Amino acid sequence: MAFENLTERLSKAIKNLTGRGRVSEEDLRATMREIRLALLEADVNYDTVKKFVANVREKASGTDIMEGLNPAQQIVKIVNDELTITMGEEAAPLNKSSKIPTIIMMAGLQGAGKTTTVAKLAYKLKTEEKARPLLIAADIYRPAAIDQLEILGRDLEIPVFSMGTDVNPRDIVRAGLKKAAENKNDYVFIDTAGRLQIDEELMQELKDIADIAHPDEILLTVDAMTGQNAAETAKGFSASLDLTGVVLTKLDGDTRGGAALSIRDVTGKPIKFVGQGEKPTDLDVFYPDRMASRILGMGDVLTLIEKAQRDFDEEEQEKQLEKMRQNTFDFNDFVAQLKQVQSMGPMEDLLKMIPGMANNPALANINIDAKQFAHLEAIVGSMTPAERENPDLINPSRRRRLAAGAGRPIVEVNRMIKQFDQMRKMMNQATNGNFGGIDKMMGG
Ligand code: GDP
Repeated sequence: MAFENLTERLSKAIKNLTGRGRVSEEDLRATMREIRLALLEADVNYDTVKKFVANVREKASGTDIMEGLNPAQQIVKIVNDELTITMGEEAAPLNKSSKIPTIIMMAGLQGAGKTTTVAKLAYKLKTEEKARPLLIAADIYRPAAIDQLEILGRDLEIPVFSMGTDVNPRDIVRAGLKKAAENKNDYVFIDTAGRLQIDEELMQELKDIADIAHPDEILLTVDAMTGQNAAETAKGFSASLDLTGVVLTKLDGDTRGGAALSIRDVTGKPIKFVGQGEKPTDLDVFYPDRMASRILGMGDVLTLIEKAQRDFDEEEQEKQLEKMRQNTFDFNDFVAQLKQVQSMGPMEDLLKMIPGMANNPALANINIDAKQFAHLEAIVGSMTPAERENPDLINPSRRRRLAAGAGRPIVEVNRMIKQFDQMRKMMNQATNGNFGGIDKMMGG
């Protein structure tokens, strides 16, 4: 999970201030030192860290704050605001042309996720705006790049323009744009070549393509796992190309935060989207404020809700939420819920977006994989309708009957009932706004 260490260390740094009515100069210095170390360890650019710490320090050393009733809370707010500012403050929307097509050129080093991102972004526009994009396959160097784009295009029912690998990419782009004009496509994506490192030939090719296509967006994809090197890469590309934004990929991985926190400050370019998985739907708009809360372990509820809205059957979801609110969440709902959640990726990652969940030890018990899921369904399938609606009925002898009915060991039945109880309790807390997060810890 992304940012795990950073979240933990920042929480710890601030936690030292809890329960104090006053923060001494020394307390503040110690906290700032911890924050500085946490950021450096997360591989944030050195100058960015220096600026960050100086700004937080300045805002925190005002007398009002020093004598405030709950200094820890105020520091959390200052750190949260500063994280938001460092990442660009506001979400940066896609530049759109006033006449069709809007041309989006993608650039990036090999393996950064460029081709995948082209497909994700085109798919997002297709589903959200009913757009009719055309993808131009202009990466003639990486073996199979064109095939990869064509396969993605076929799966997502998005047309791909390609001319094989023996044609100059500049000519491919010219011909592709002509095709888009004929077909009246509203968006054109140009998937360009990547290299392992920035080199002059590549930059010249990209510059030429930009001159030919006059793109409305030149988006650079960078891999979040490369930490502050991602920011250096972006700086390198922007020396030759007029980048309009950055897509940060692989944020679903075990990334430390250095890329997310350094890119804007080092390059001046906004992060516009984040890739959070390999599926076509795993691309999200980048919201600096939400990312800041996520880094602080306060959860990213808005993104969770949006994700839920996108992936869930809305009516079903509303029904479930209402049931959770009224605390009538039963085993029928448990199974319905799991079915929907399954389509959204690892449960653990999702739960971590709920405020206060990032460091919740209960998560360890709630990890449900696909194979287990069939077993859970079998156990619920052995329940009587009354048991499903009223889980409290399920006493030890009924548990034995369920185990026999589903052909599963009794410990599994017990575990599932425990998971169910935990889920019900957690959902109930979250939906009632009773968050257990960092703000709770501070008495907020
Ligand atoms: P390109 O060389 O820049 O075009 O890179 P690709 O689009 O081929 O991506 C390289 C690898 O990274 C592929 O295996 C992708 O599935 C994977 N990838 C791309 N974006 C993401 C992401 O956001 N999360 C994860 N986990 N994998 C990604």
